Amino acid sequence: MNPIMVKAKRCLSLPVFAVLLLMIFLYYTTIFIFIHYWVDTSHESSKDNAERKKCDKCFAYKPPRTHHCRVCRRCVLKMDHHCLWINNCVGYWNYKAFFVFALYATIASIHSAVLFICCVYHKNWDSVKGSLLKIFYVMYGTMLMAMTVTLLTLFGWHVYLVLQNMTTIEYYEAKRAKWLAAKSGKSYRHPFNIGVYTNITSILGPNMLKWLCPTAVGHLKDGVSFATIRDNS
Ligand SMILES: [Zn+2]
Ligand SMILES: [Zn+2]
Repeated sequence: MNPIMVKAKRCLSLPVFAVLLLMIFLYYTTIFIFIHYWVDTSHESSKDNAERKKCDKCFAYKPPRTHHCRVCRRCVLKMDHHCLWINNCVGYWNYKAFFVFALYATIASIHSAVLFICCVYHKNWDSVKGSLLKIFYVMYGTMLMAMTVTLLTLFGWHVYLVLQNMTTIEYYEAKRAKWLAAKSGKSYRHPFNIGVYTNITSILGPNMLKWLCPTAVGHLKDGVSFATIRDNS
């Protein structure tokens, strides 16, 4: 027999052919079934998302931006924080009222501080006998300044959040997301930051004349769905 034919017959023997078939079978099964299943985690992620969308305390559907408040014992739409001073949660329905309240309280505080400074400046201290009145002025001034600085900081912080269309909770979540993204060489952008003007109007309303009216909340919808940067792209 031709030596080439002998070699070919040996190569295509039943055991070699079986091994070849097995290799092809394993190769294609690995590539098209197992790697595909492993890489395409949509099944797993949809399961995770479904779990994430459910509140583990209320056992109810939890829309995006909603968080469970342990103090109020309920889920709060677009929860910002639980405010001890108003003994309530600040969320989707009352955020504008809270923001405007912080603005008015800051203005009132600054107004009081200006009046107090003018009063101190124009007072004839030489005619004041004893130190009781001076102590009262110092205590009052200290409290007023502390409150003014606190309210200014609080209001400034919420101006920043409104410009970013971010809640206080989301700020801390974004901080972590940025850190994780940076670790993998990516960048993170807050998904609800859809431009400064749109961010402001989505919270304070489309009519600029009603921005400072706490009860003008006709622009609020359901608090369940929100525009994202993906909608604009
Ligand atoms: Zn809940
Ligand atoms: Zn609460």
